[in-house]
Amino acid sequence: MTEDKTQGKLLNKVALVTGSTSGIGLGIARRLGLAGCDVVLNGLMDTEEVERVKAQLAETCGRKVLYHGADMTKPSEISELVEFTVLQFGAVDIVVNNAGIQHTALVEEFPPEKWDAVIAINLSSAFHSIRSAIPHMKRKGWGRIVNIASAHGLVASAHKAAYVAAKHGLVGLTKVVALETAETGITVNAICPGWVRTPLVEKQISDRASRDGISQEAAAIQLLAAKQPSKRFVEVDEIGDTVVFLASDAAANITGTSISIDGGWTAQ
Ligand code: NAD
Repeated sequence: MTEDKTQGKLLNKVALVTGSTSGIGLGIARRLGLAGCDVVLNGLMDTEEVERVKAQLAETCGRKVLYHGADMTKPSEISELVEFTVLQFGAVDIVVNNAGIQHTALVEEFPPEKWDAVIAINLSSAFHSIRSAIPHMKRKGWGRIVNIASAHGLVASAHKAAYVAAKHGLVGLTKVVALETAETGITVNAICPGWVRTPLVEKQISDRASRDGISQEAAAIQLLAAKQPSKRFVEVDEIGDTVVFLASDAAANITGTSISIDGGWTAQ
């Protein structure tokens, strides 16, 4: 068991984190587990790997960890994921909408099926999990929804029509649901990270490296230099700790907002 100082802050809360088999989602699940939550993981992963990730997380956090393989493009499976959480753990206190994919292309070359997939996974999935979770949260008079948007929820970059549209949409959805739940003990917020070095970004670094004939590390430095004044990648735990803060009592009156963790990206 870890000595982490956040341990216990969210003791016995139940957290569902979508897209948490990798990258940012897995990091958030870990920080929530360390803060005392039982956790439901979700994401695309083979069975053996799921067992390994679940066992490791449960051991690190000393909490119960379950997995549900709902596909975030399928509304009925997203509802099942929320109901599974309530059935297994008796509540769904914290929902972190994190699942996301990226596709880059000029708008006139953007494959419509990629547009549909990015919007479904990065935006519509949050609508479906929220509409399923809110009645349970309202019954308890307590709930926390954290939507993992992006710097691209606030500003745009070329070649990212679907992603930027989805993330701006997610920030808008955050505000609406915050207003609708303002008197219920539920808070709804978005986190807008800059570059985080996860598999989603590693692909963009590789694409840049092969396009410009440079090394992976040179491409990573270029990627940061173009957008992120701190010139360092955001750490997964920096996002996880912000989720824990938003879920804590200290943040009970923070709702409908977007918190940037972007090394100054959107200050420019
Ligand atoms: P990642 O590729 O490491 O993880 C994505 C997760 O989503 C994985 O667990 C994957 O299995 C899951 N997923 C993808 N498609 C799914 C589907 N159809 N059904 C269920 N799960 C699915 O990516 P990441 O960088 O950790 O991104 C997590 C979130 O953070 C995304 O919403 C992304 O847009 C956002 N974000 C990332 C960065 C960054 O720099 N990496 C910056 C800002 C925002």
